[in-house]
Amino acid sequence: MSDTPTPLPDEVDVVVVGSGGAALTGAYTAAAHGLRVLVIEKTPYVGGTSAYSGSGLWLPGNDVLRRAGVDDSVEDGLVYLRATVGDRTPAELQEAYVRTGPELVAFLEKAPEIEFQVLPFPDYFEAEGRAKPMGRGICPVPLAGADLGVRLDLLRPTVAADQFGLDVPRDELVGGQALIGRLLLALEATGNAEVRTSSPLGSLVTTDGRVTGVRVGDQEVRARAGVLLAAGGYECDPARRREHHGLPGAAWTSAAPGSNTGDALAAAVSVGAAVDLLDEAWWCPATLFPNGHAVFTLGLSGGIFVGPDGKRFANESLPYDRMGHRMRTVMAEHGPDTPFWWIFDSRTESVPGICSPAPDAAEFRAAGLWHSAATPEELATALGVPADALRATVDRFNGFARGGTDEDFHRGEDDYDRFFAAGDGPNPALVPLEQGELHAVRIVLGDLGSKGGARIDASGQVLAQDGSPIGGLYAAGNSAASVAGHVYPAPGTPLGSGMVFAYRAATAMTSVHQPA
Ligand SMILES: Cc1cc2nc3c(=O)[nH]c(=O)nc-3n(C[C@H](O)[C@H](O)[C@H](O)COP(=O)(O)OP(=O)(O)OC[C@H]3O[C@@H](n4cnc5c(N)ncnc54)[C@H](O)[C@@H]3O)c2cc1C
Repeated sequence: MSDTPTPLPDEVDVVVVGSGGAALTGAYTAAAHGLRVLVIEKTPYVGGTSAYSGSGLWLPGNDVLRRAGVDDSVEDGLVYLRATVGDRTPAELQEAYVRTGPELVAFLEKAPEIEFQVLPFPDYFEAEGRAKPMGRGICPVPLAGADLGVRLDLLRPTVAADQFGLDVPRDELVGGQALIGRLLLALEATGNAEVRTSSPLGSLVTTDGRVTGVRVGDQEVRARAGVLLAAGGYECDPARRREHHGLPGAAWTSAAPGSNTGDALAAAVSVGAAVDLLDEAWWCPATLFPNGHAVFTLGLSGGIFVGPDGKRFANESLPYDRMGHRMRTVMAEHGPDTPFWWIFDSRTESVPGICSPAPDAAEFRAAGLWHSAATPEELATALGVPADALRATVDRFNGFARGGTDEDFHRGEDDYDRFFAAGDGPNPALVPLEQGELHAVRIVLGDLGSKGGARIDASGQVLAQDGSPIGGLYAAGNSAASVAGHVYPAPGTPLGSGMVFAYRAATAMTSVHQPA
C-alpha cells in the first residue's frame, strides 16, 4: 500500500474504485481467486464511510448466526426483505442479496485475517412475523491496532477523531475500523493486489462500448476483466444534494468530508448507465455540532422530537431511517431549513441517546444549538416555537408516559422501540419530561450515505438504459442503486448488500477471466 506518486501499473485484471467495505470485499474476492487487482482511493485514507460505521452486516441465515445458536434462515430473511422492500427493486436482486449472504460470510471467514461475531440489534420492521427481536446481524471481531502495523496510519480514523479531532485510542479497532482493517490484511495476504491512496478515478476508458480501464490523472490503467465502481455515493456533493434530495448544500451527512462526491455515478452515466433511486439516502436524525458536522444519532432512551410548530411528528424511537423519512415529510411542508429540536429533561447529564462524540453543553449553548429553561413556555421562546403548542405537547406526552400508552404515535409498542428504552414507568420508552430543567438540542436530517446510483443486475454488472449489461463495468455499495429501494430494512443492509454485490461482481469477473 502506498501514498507515493509512483506510476500506477499499465494493466491489471480488475480495477476497484474506492476502498470502503464494498470495494475491499470485491478486491479481496478477485485477488483471492488469483486476479491482479488495483484499488484506487481518492483520499489519503482507506475505508470511506465504512470505516466510521458500526460494521453491522445484515446477512440472514449465515454460519456465524448458526454457531451462536440464532434461529434464522435464508428463507425467513427473504420473506422479511420482500415484505419491507416490496417490488420497488427487482426480485432477482433481492434474492441474490439474501441467498448469497451465507456464501459470502463462509468465503470471507476462510481468510485467517477475517472473523465475525454476532451483533445483536433488532430488525427495523414487523414484517410478516419474520422480524428478529435481536436481529440477524454480524460484525467483525475486534482487531488489535498493532496488527495493521504501518497501515494503521492509512486507515480512516473514527468520526470522533476525523471530524472532531478527538484523541481516540487505536489499540483495539472495533466496528468499521476492524472491518476495513481485516479486509486490508486479507487483501494484502493474497499477494495479488495493490492499494493506491490519493488516486482518484478521473474517467472510464472504453473500447468498442466495453469498459476496459480507468484514467487517474494523466495515467491510464487497463482492466482486463473489468472495473468495479465502489466509490460511495454523492452525499458530499452540494449540487446533487440540492437537485436530488432537495437539500441545500451538502448538509448534513455523516460521511467522510469531501470523500463521496458522486464520481462513480458520473463515470457510470458517462458510459450510458441507467440510474435509479437518486432521491434516496440512508436517512437518520443527526445532532448538529458547532463545527458544522452533524452526527448520526440513535437509540433514544428519553425525550421527544418537535418540529417548528412545537408539536411531535413521529414515534421518536423509530429506527433512524424511518424517522428520517418522517423528517423529510415535515420538511416538505415547512421547507428544507426546518428546525427540529430534541427535548429532554435533566435526568441525564447529556443527551439521552447515542451520539459519538457526546455533545458538550457549554459549546452547544454558545452556538445556539442547546437551550435550557424551567418551563415549556420559556423553552419555546428560546426556540422560536409557539409556547402554547409546546406546553400542550409536553403535557400530553407526560400523560401518555404516566398511562403507558402513546396514543399519538404508539411509541414503545415494538421490539425496536424497547431495545433502547430506559424508563421505569409502565411503558419504558415513554420517559416523562418532569425532572429539573428542560433542554432542547438541535436535530437535523442527516444520512449515512446516499442510496441512488447505477442500476445493476444480480452479478453487480451495470445496466445500460435499455437494460442490457455494460461490458466490463460493475458497481456495488452506495455507487449502485440500492436493492433496498425506499426503505432501510434492517441494521447492516447498506454494508451487507454492498459487500454481497461486490462479491458477486468479483466472482463474475473471475469466471469470465481466468487468471493467466
Ligand atoms: C456512524 C455510522 C455508522 C454506520 N453503521 C453502519 C452499520 O453498522 N451497518 C451498515 O450496513 N451501514 C452502516 N453505516 C452506513 C455505511 O457505513 C455506508 O452506507 C457504507 O459504508 C457505504 O459503503 P461504500 O463502500 O459504498 O462507500 P464508502 O465506505 O463511503 O467508501 C467509498 C470510498 O470511495 C472513495 N472515492 C470516492 N470517489 C472516488 C474516486 N473518484 N476515486 C477513488 N475513490 C473514490 C471515497 O473516498 C471512499 O473512501 C453507518 C454509517 C455511519 C456514518
